[in-house]
Amino acid sequence: MALLKLKNIGKIYDSNDILTIGIRGVDLEFDYNEFVIIEGESGSGKSTLLNVIGANDSYEEGELYFDGLETSHYSEAEWERYRDKNIATIFQDFNIIENLTVQENVELALLRYDDGRERKRIARELIEKVGLTKQANQKGSKLSGGEKQRTVIARALAKDSPVILADEPTGNLDVKSSKEVAKLLKDVSKDKLVIVVTHNPEYFKQYASRRIRIYDGHVSEDRVIEKPAPRADVEIKQIPQKKNHDFLTTMWIGRLNYKSRPKFAVMMTCAMFVCAITLFLILSVFGGALIKPYTETIDKTAVEGKVIVSAASGTITERELDFLASETNAGYVLLNREKAEFEVTVAKKRGMLSSYKVTCLYAPYIYDPSKGNAVLVMPISASRDAEVIKNAFIGADVGIESVTVEKKLSASDIRLYLSSEDIVENGDKIKAINSNMKLGETDWTIYTFRKDPELENGKIDLINSNSYEAEKYLAVFSIKDDKTYSVASSNEFDDGVDGIVVEFSESDYDELFGRKESEANQSCLYFSDTKAAESAIEKIPEGYIGMLSTGRVYLYNAGDVFTMDIVYYIALIAISILLAALISVIFGRTVKIYSADFAVYRTLGISSKISSRSLYAQMLFIFLPTLLLLPLVSLIATVFPGSGLTFITFGNYAFIELMMLLIVEAVAFGFNKSISGKSIRKTLKRGSK
Ligand code: ADP
Ligand code: MG
Repeated sequence: MALLKLKNIGKIYDSNDILTIGIRGVDLEFDYNEFVIIEGESGSGKSTLLNVIGANDSYEEGELYFDGLETSHYSEAEWERYRDKNIATIFQDFNIIENLTVQENVELALLRYDDGRERKRIARELIEKVGLTKQANQKGSKLSGGEKQRTVIARALAKDSPVILADEPTGNLDVKSSKEVAKLLKDVSKDKLVIVVTHNPEYFKQYASRRIRIYDGHVSEDRVIEKPAPRADVEIKQIPQKKNHDFLTTMWIGRLNYKSRPKFAVMMTCAMFVCAITLFLILSVFGGALIKPYTETIDKTAVEGKVIVSAASGTITERELDFLASETNAGYVLLNREKAEFEVTVAKKRGMLSSYKVTCLYAPYIYDPSKGNAVLVMPISASRDAEVIKNAFIGADVGIESVTVEKKLSASDIRLYLSSEDIVENGDKIKAINSNMKLGETDWTIYTFRKDPELENGKIDLINSNSYEAEKYLAVFSIKDDKTYSVASSNEFDDGVDGIVVEFSESDYDELFGRKESEANQSCLYFSDTKAAESAIEKIPEGYIGMLSTGRVYLYNAGDVFTMDIVYYIALIAISILLAALISVIFGRTVKIYSADFAVYRTLGISSKISSRSLYAQMLFIFLPTLLLLPLVSLIATVFPGSGLTFITFGNYAFIELMMLLIVEAVAFGFNKSISGKSIRKTLKRGSK
């Protein structure tokens, strides 16, 4: 039984409804140990014949038998296996992958071995056999024609298939190289079937065991010079393959794709950078966190371990608070919850990046400064204005004498941690910094308040005010809006203070700021952590209610927030898809170079499934740098003065990276779509200029 049998084979080309006969009525049989040369005029059908045998093209008539088995019913997958197991092809224009080294080109035909070292070893042996050891690590593009063809011969040998097809292998070579290639083909032909199509029979005729002439698509001459020797009995060795063989192969080819087009890889990665940063900026503008929570903590700053207590009815007195503290083993207490956390605005002045909202709070387990001292914690991006913010508190003369500044990468807002003494004694004064005064119809921001013993009760002096005829109007303050004051004088100035200061009589001042509370609606107990606070809540005696300051409650508009979140998501996904489309268009032309590579892969028996998946793997490699880049960009943004940004949240990070992955894989998908379905012959024609 012949190794290869063609029975009445015909191939008809149909291009734009013009039918051309490639070959017709071809009956041929080939066997092991034959060295066949096929001659014929240009256009006589030699390449067509070889493409049909090599399954690089389909046939429409007759039957091709391999090892006695019919092939006409083969599916695409079966043809892939056929190419993989049976055929090695050598082309006139080499079809070497120019951007890969000789070694890598040869290894591409050795992927049936899982072990990389084994692949390397065999490749080196074959490279030595074709005399390219010195050039092993040179790129295909740097080789001479003869060296390219020898690489391809080594690659064909690496496949270890019974049939080697060579279509005008010396067509692009000089005499010396042609002779070498012919000799090499002879050397490797033992126990194989070698079919060489050539216009230069002079190089091959001394080796040929059979010569065939094609004329006008059919066999016009078939001359056996030497009967083929019977095939030596060699046992076919099975190469063990791991379960994840296909996966490993895919990743390996993906890596090669990546390596072979470094410019493309770098440009794609840059494009990914741009996309990542675009999404990052959009997300930042949308308010830092993409997903707005539907719940919020009871306290805005949600100090850990803080328990807010209230009485089931009435207020809590100092004595009751002491009782609650001892029952629950609280570390610290604060009678009036309203003083535990409040906001002070520092207005924007010349040279400042922006105005700031400073949350003043009592959180003794985080910072417990002594009286007169405070700790200012702020994001690095605002640190340029640290001095101004600090001095806004010290200069107001409200008991704070020194402020320690701490700049933090993770800080999203500005907080001033106060001592318990200052909270209790000066809390109202600190709260009053930059509060409002209504004078007639006009609103004024008052920096701070002072006593003036000379003033009558109910009268105020305005320092540093430039208000017109202020004495005509009555003043009402936001810190005490149930009382009016009349302006005694508004023409005093104090160079040492930056802002309007209001002076009260001593007893008016004490009425506003000298109150010493003995009871409150809600009080605070402080514990070292949430766990301790939770167990303390269980110990709260009857008649009192405690809740964690970190406890979450639903926003009253949770439903709207949810809808907005979904809208954000859809918008961002739409933007990502747009970016993917844009990138696909920009890089779409690159598909061509890959489609030529992939056609070569297919002639090597690499399934189109693996090739196309390798493209996804390659895109994964292109995507990987963004994993690092995004946090880096965020870090830079976070420390950038005035950005007001916090270090990227995990949720946003995950979302952007997911979109990046979507974008690159969409590009891979686009590439695959435009590559797939083309016959190898057509693609190689196009790819090889
Ligand atoms: P050879 O390799 O002997 O020069 P080919 O096998 O390439 O010849 O071509 C055989 C015949 O088939 C020629 O008439 C050629 O014009 C035609 N042919 C080859 N490829 C195509 C194609 N893709 N579309 C249409 N006709 C083709
Ligand atoms: Mg040809």
